[in-house]
Amino acid sequence: KKIVIAIDGYSGTGKSSTAKQVASRLSYTYIDSGAMYRAVAWFFIQNKIDYSNNEELVKGLEQCHIEFQGKKLLLNNQPLDGELRTMEVNNHVSSVSTIEKVREKLVDQQREMGKEKGVVMDGRDIGTVVFPDAELKLFMTADMDIRAERRKKELDVKGINESLQKIKENLKERDRVDSSRKYSPLKQAEDAKEIDTSHLTLNQQIDKIVALAES
Ligand code: C5P
Repeated sequence: KKIVIAIDGYSGTGKSSTAKQVASRLSYTYIDSGAMYRAVAWFFIQNKIDYSNNEELVKGLEQCHIEFQGKKLLLNNQPLDGELRTMEVNNHVSSVSTIEKVREKLVDQQREMGKEKGVVMDGRDIGTVVFPDAELKLFMTADMDIRAERRKKELDVKGINESLQKIKENLKERDRVDSSRKYSPLKQAEDAKEIDTSHLTLNQQIDKIVALAES
């Protein structure tokens, strides 16, 4: 029987890489909810939308159509990938995702995508808000130093040189904003299993979750 798997946790705990491969091992659909928040932030930056102004925000959101083609995210038919992972987007995405209207729009869309089951979705509020009835919920954590080093490696691969210090500051700031916001703050669902990934390899994390899904 196909289920919904909700994976939440802090940035840099290996959520996305794990979720992607769990989905592929189970032949499920993977949905990166963070990429959707990043796409909205990117769109606002590109179009110089002052999202603190309600009128501009509403108009901006109306013009912003997100869909997935397989794993690829399309914003108004334009595929986005690396554009969503820049430090500029990193610096805006947490404040964009505090906005209730942004969350309402994206959560509705995420619930729609989960209807077919056989879905792995990762994010911050998937087990608490988007799919409170998900059959399997995981909450991923890891030590701050390890998270920052992982992020640095990811950026290095893309040819982006950022200091460990800056990365750590950005992660800490995102943790703070994500956990303290008014709407759907990042927190572990009561029925979520915690997975500390500090000393696990990617394959160990994947095996663990696949085993839980199949049990
Ligand atoms: O997962 P990722 O780091 O790509 O997410 C980027 C940002 O989007 C997070 O820092 C968080 O502010 C926001 N987000 C959210 N709710 C989600 C997924 C992401 O608020 N379900």
